[in-house]
Amino acid sequence: RAYNFNAGPAALPLEVLERAQKQFVDYEDTGMSIMEMSHRGAVYEGVHKEAEQRLLSLLGNPEGFKVLFLQGGASTQFAMIPMNLLGEGQVASYVDTGSWAGKAISEAKLLGETQVAASTKADHYMRVPTSEELQIAANAAYVHLTSNETIGGVQFKQFPDTGDVPLVVDMSSDILSRPLDMSQFGMIYAGAQKNLGPSGVTVVIAREELVNHSPKHIPTIFRYDTHLSNGSLYNTPPSFAIYMVNEVLKWIEEQGGLEGVERLNTQKANLIYDAIDNSNGFYKGAAHSDSRSHMNITFRLQTEELEKAFIKASEQAGFVGLKGHRSVGGLRASIYNAVPYESCKALVEFMRDFQKKHGE
Ligand code: PLP
Repeated sequence: RAYNFNAGPAALPLEVLERAQKQFVDYEDTGMSIMEMSHRGAVYEGVHKEAEQRLLSLLGNPEGFKVLFLQGGASTQFAMIPMNLLGEGQVASYVDTGSWAGKAISEAKLLGETQVAASTKADHYMRVPTSEELQIAANAAYVHLTSNETIGGVQFKQFPDTGDVPLVVDMSSDILSRPLDMSQFGMIYAGAQKNLGPSGVTVVIAREELVNHSPKHIPTIFRYDTHLSNGSLYNTPPSFAIYMVNEVLKWIEEQGGLEGVERLNTQKANLIYDAIDNSNGFYKGAAHSDSRSHMNITFRLQTEELEKAFIKASEQAGFVGLKGHRSVGGLRASIYNAVPYESCKALVEFMRDFQKKHGE
């Protein structure tokens, strides 16, 4: 297997792929693949409900929260959130931490009055703001933030207290990577393709009262209340992707739940950040140290030529996906839940070796 450090779609646990391979043609002696089954049939519905329950169970069965399986990626949520949650005379409040937050803000601006509660643009988005920096409008319908900026490599370690204003969080690139106190949130959401499964399904976990009464003028398919009242089976769901999410959730349980994956994620991130910090300046971490992401490690070398050479040599050595996003350059190692510790160890060895060959 390749050492897969892709930012997304990203590595899936080998055990999950192998389990799915076994069931691919004949799901539990039904003579059919799960993707060939009716989404209204008992077998698929069983998987669908199991995935919902398993997700809530991993989050500690938070009271009053509902799970929705939607399509259109997290990008569709950038529009659905203001469409559904921003009422007359209210303001949509956003925390601006970089590329993905910026896209969410742009969509909200198309739909209603939008306010930036805090921005770290002046620091080139290389940190997340502190709670004290947030200035939330008095008539805010919700506060939106991006828990992990996949491109910049910054992550919230704690979430700001937004009081009575629901906190809505894009967790596309760090969902289920650590335990979460769900009492802080109104809604969290994520495209599945980093920590949850293959692309094609978007998971929304929200307080029921936020998603059970969408404004009347919103088209049916974009209304949260449509999907809530139909158990995410209003139209044909991405059934194979949801089946895969259920398998990934089983795997997370086998890792010791969210505490287990967090432990491993911390070890993986520390290993690579230590290699960067102990390189005598050969490698430089891009993010401020207290905002460093445990999912996307962004770093630089002294020159772009050296970075190009690093990427080329890494590809020859079997590493995939270490090139930074085209908008920021540099290097990025995405180490989502499914990236094994051994891959991180191999990367660190490669980095040391590369430094020996190209350092002073
Ligand atoms: N938000 C974050 C933090 C992301 O990393 C991404 C994708 O990489 C998105 C949103 C967009 O997700 P999608 O491609 O599912 O629309």
